Amino acid sequence: MDILTQIDHNTKLIGVIGHPIKHSFSPLMHNFEFRSKNLNYLYFPFDIPPSNLREALKAMLVLGIKGLNVTIPHKEKIIQYLDHVSDEAASVGAVNTIVNEGGLLHGYNTDIYGIVETLNPYKDEIYKNNVTIIGAGGSARAVIYTLIRHFRVEKIHVLNRTIEKVEALRDYFKDKMHFENIFSDELIPVDNIENIKSSNLIINTTPIGMYPNISETPIDISEVFNSNQMVFDLIYNPLKTEFLKIAEAKGATIINGLRMFVEQGAKAFELWTGELMDSNKIYKELQKRLG
Ligand code: NAP
Repeated sequence: MDILTQIDHNTKLIGVIGHPIKHSFSPLMHNFEFRSKNLNYLYFPFDIPPSNLREALKAMLVLGIKGLNVTIPHKEKIIQYLDHVSDEAASVGAVNTIVNEGGLLHGYNTDIYGIVETLNPYKDEIYKNNVTIIGAGGSARAVIYTLIRHFRVEKIHVLNRTIEKVEALRDYFKDKMHFENIFSDELIPVDNIENIKSSNLIINTTPIGMYPNISETPIDISEVFNSNQMVFDLIYNPLKTEFLKIAEAKGATIINGLRMFVEQGAKAFELWTGELMDSNKIYKELQKRLG
């Protein structure tokens, strides 16, 4: 059915809030699937700066918006404004999906599912090994939780521009998950190359290299990479970031953020509509458009 003829008083509105938001393919993904399944929903991008976060949630209630995705930089701050947070999202300390249940806002973290689905093919290589994570924001929290809970990693080195944020993360996971092996390193400049070299999984959770700044990379020291490593960039636009290109040139196995993006979206879709998204079909469609 044509999208415009479908809009009526029964249409349910879903959205994504973030700042910036231009890079996001969430509207495309969800509207595509709403139409494929003939569901009377519409998905909108909302550019919400941090100073308007609380007002955005008030508007969600006033306008009767059924659900939201939450992206950079709101995933942590938003928790304080929600009525209920799932156990997993509370353990992570970040929310990426909200469901409006009759005026009460419920928060979830579907990034965890996206990360598990992305890394499961490499489970044996990751299990009980060392990992380096770049960035200490909302998605880094989901990555750390998943690596501890689902992949039982040994040590996690976190490089970040703001070192206090890593220290806060370290204390948080020590308290919540009794995990004592998070170590902090400076990102600018990178202060401990040996830790990265000895990690068999390296993950970028910063937006550095994301469209439109596609020539940027969080680490430009190619010597840190080798052919025994897996290098995962959460960014999916572009599919191959500068960071992944440098790692690939050194023989590392590279993984982009598209599978995670689609799977976290599929879980959110299910929370809002009760229906399953055809994630393989969406993956292929987005790969074609981004490729
Ligand atoms: P966030 O909570 O705002 O955290 C961003 C992190 O990146 C912070 O640690 C921040 O450092 C660091 N950072 C940002 N700009 C930087 C710069 N110019 N130089 C150095 N460090 C910088 O954001 P997020 O929600 O975690 O999202 C991060 C990225 O992951 C985004 O690109 C997002 O699109 C992507 N993502 C992808 C998926 C997926 O499904 N594929 C899911 C979630 C997120 P400070 O602590 O110093 O500020």
